[in-house]
Amino acid sequence: MSYDHTDHGKWSETGVPKKGWNCVGVDDLGEPSQTCEMCGTAEIRYVHIMHHPDYPADLSVGCICAENMEQDYVRPREREKRLRTLAARRKTWRRRQWKVSGRGNWYLNTEGYNLVIVPSGRKWRVVVSNRATGASQTGRTEFSLESEAQVAALTALVWAKDHLPS
Ligand SMILES: [Zn+2]
Repeated sequence: MSYDHTDHGKWSETGVPKKGWNCVGVDDLGEPSQTCEMCGTAEIRYVHIMHHPDYPADLSVGCICAENMEQDYVRPREREKRLRTLAARRKTWRRRQWKVSGRGNWYLNTEGYNLVIVPSGRKWRVVVSNRATGASQTGRTEFSLESEAQVAALTALVWAKDHLPS
């Protein structure tokens, strides 16, 4: 594809910074279902949320525009690759076999981490612990169903690999 996104949309608007943006978040929409807010043309599934100190709004953009806005041709692709990997893992994650702890909570030991679904009032939270260091974090999100918390535990595991390393 030789199509040049940078001729389109906000790329040609004055008053919109063309570089100096930072990525402040990513999202997976599950399918291409949103138009890139920078070029106004690309249909995107993996959203890079971009912030600029001299622009009033954050923009949700695709990978190619993110590369140009950040002037970085490595990190946006890495972010997108992580989202793709996570999406693929979600499919197999649902088939994982959880066990019941002595306290009667669902738990799963995987990749050096311990995931437990614990009651929080009438709802459920995910607790993730590094089995080597004992470092532990309780998720802020409360789930109505244990099964929802089990699905979300994958996100907790990915988070823990970054924040509770061995
Ligand atoms: Zn774009």
